[in-house]
Amino acid sequence: MANTGYNPFENAQAQFDGVAETIGLDQGMRDFLRQPMKEYHVSIPVKMDDGTTKTFKGFRIRHNDARGPGKGGIRFHPEETADTVRALSMWMTWKCAVADIPLGGGKGGIICDPREMSLGEQERLCRGYIRALYPNIGPFSDVPAPDVMTNNQHMLWMLDEYETLVGNARFPGMITGKPVGMGGSLGRTEATGYGVMYTLKELLRVMKIPVGDTTASFQGFGNVAEYAARMYTDLGGKVIAVSCWDNTDKTAYTFRNVNGCNIPELVSIKDKFGSIDKEKAKGLGYEVLPGDEWLKQDVDILAPCALENQITPAVFGNISQKVKIICEGANGPTTPDCDPLIKERGIVVLPDFLCNAGGVTCSYFEQVQCNINYFWDKSEVLEKLERKMTEAFQGVYNLAQEKNVYMRDAAYMIAIERVAHAVKLRGWVS
Ligand code: GLU
Repeated sequence: MANTGYNPFENAQAQFDGVAETIGLDQGMRDFLRQPMKEYHVSIPVKMDDGTTKTFKGFRIRHNDARGPGKGGIRFHPEETADTVRALSMWMTWKCAVADIPLGGGKGGIICDPREMSLGEQERLCRGYIRALYPNIGPFSDVPAPDVMTNNQHMLWMLDEYETLVGNARFPGMITGKPVGMGGSLGRTEATGYGVMYTLKELLRVMKIPVGDTTASFQGFGNVAEYAARMYTDLGGKVIAVSCWDNTDKTAYTFRNVNGCNIPELVSIKDKFGSIDKEKAKGLGYEVLPGDEWLKQDVDILAPCALENQITPAVFGNISQKVKIICEGANGPTTPDCDPLIKERGIVVLPDFLCNAGGVTCSYFEQVQCNINYFWDKSEVLEKLERKMTEAFQGVYNLAQEKNVYMRDAAYMIAIERVAHAVKLRGWVS
């Protein structure tokens, strides 16, 4: 995001255009699908604790709702841009389509740094965002969820504000990622990370590589990476390194243990911002290395589970020859100009909008449970999640084999065809 010249929306459009060309999509359909259907840009005045008023900029962008209401998270980030939200809303459309859930694509963002704000300020910001946007979101139009630096408390404040404004009723399906007991689903916290592992497990199975023979390096140690790494080690894999943002130093570090990281132990030394305590890590025998070291490790699997724009041609040369798989837990971690280099080396990519679809799939389950007002136990949620993710993987893998294309291209083909079909059935584009 901060890197000059990097525009995620142009990347998302470039990926779309390439596949649209391959599948021979009509020009009219291309023009419609290569941009969002609706965009809202809002200014949110917030009373700060020191008595001043600060105005924050927020976005909600709906890329496509032909298959169902828009769906996608809200990010809090100091470097958020409209183009990032546009790209992410488009990826949500493809993600819901490839997972075959009856939802479209949307995304929200607010330019802010919650790490520098009190809880009261964050609550007023959440409520202000909904006040500005509530006629344009809702259980049947566009359903937000947590994303980068937002959590279940933010979701609940937003729901509460929405219900207050709409009046005299409860609308638990208006937002997902709510706290358990307040309309949230068991398993939602783990869902994205576990979903990453369900697809990786399937990939390793078809590649005939036992998980227990593999090593991995993770970028990020937030919600996605943590649960993915937990399940990966439970399945017998060895995590050599994880990189993590340090909120005090405003930089990332890589924590390495060549004998295998103990994930619950690393989680236990995270502070409230999610940063791993460097001194405690050293005391436990971890090497503390520069942030970009995660990418240079001699491992079988690289798992970028943080932000977009991380695997680029500029750093590709740093990737070890040993790497066989890139497992994209984040949204958009690889830039399109890096894909040819990855293909040339024969590295298999588990594409982001397939690999990390577990979060939104569980959000869909959350909505279903809210609508029937009956909540499943955790094993039922996770069992359904694994089935959905495995089916999505198999669809993509089989098409990639059949057409002899990369899994990212196969996932795009499936998603674009499903969405274009819905658009046609509705008669929007003939
Ligand atoms: N923010 C997650 C994603 O990028 C989940 C979205 C949702 O649950 O709606 O997929």
